Amino acid sequence: MAKIYDALYKTAINETIVNLTSLTPKDYREKYRGNLYCSTPNCSAMITYVMRAGNKNHFRTWRGTLHSKDCEYYSEKIAGRIGIRASFVDYIYLSGDQMSRSMKEAYLQELMTPEEKVLAKQKVKNPRKRTGTLEGNEQISFELTTDPEHKDKSQSGQKARLYRRDVNALTTRDIGLTRTVIGEYVEADFSNERPVVRIKKQDVYANILFEEAFFAENIAGRDRLSTISKYFDIYTSLIIVAVGEIRQSSVLEEFEIVLFDYKAFRVNGRSLDSLAVGETIQQWIF
Ligand SMILES: [Zn+2]
Repeated sequence: MAKIYDALYKTAINETIVNLTSLTPKDYREKYRGNLYCSTPNCSAMITYVMRAGNKNHFRTWRGTLHSKDCEYYSEKIAGRIGIRASFVDYIYLSGDQMSRSMKEAYLQELMTPEEKVLAKQKVKNPRKRTGTLEGNEQISFELTTDPEHKDKSQSGQKARLYRRDVNALTTRDIGLTRTVIGEYVEADFSNERPVVRIKKQDVYANILFEEAFFAENIAGRDRLSTISKYFDIYTSLIIVAVGEIRQSSVLEEFEIVLFDYKAFRVNGRSLDSLAVGETIQQWIF
């Protein structure tokens, strides 16, 4: 299948062409995602931008969408879903259960001694890469997401492994993907519209950023999040576990974890709601 070099960015009021070379991951995330279409006239196939390390970012056809018959990207075989000739990335919207399980395991593992960690690792079988092989060497890869933008378009019924990473174990291969990240709380900034929680592991730092969607579910979310600095004053050491999309910071030489889901953030194994309950009880006692 011909390589896709440009895409049509459609909004309710206008349409513009976006070139692969001029597109930045940041622009894609903040503006174009979910709004890119094939640039061939009268073709309505959706286009996704896949971020890969080493300047290998590229456009792909969103699986399940079809190019029109006279489009240069049209592949007859797509219609029958047999031997699809392109590689596709498909999103699976992460379930609350899977997220919760992963965060719980991450926290428990964090509390283990080095010896216990070795034992636990031996118990885990080698994970198989979750890809659906089609005819030929082309594959569909399923990627987890917590971004509500993908909710409607995601493949239900599919499952993918949610990988856990300590902050200092993140690599460029994690960019654009959803991971459970573990780190120690360093500091937080709640002065801006978008709060930032800074975490670290062995001198490797990362900022956790909170998308608007994170607070959409719970109006008290911002206040609850800000209680963590109080907890830090009391406990002096907090373990943060968060499930979010890994990005490369545009300003700093480090990764960022972007959170979309209110349930995707835990402090010492506790959800923000359960922290808030603890807070109230403490006020009652003292
Ligand atoms: Zn097309």
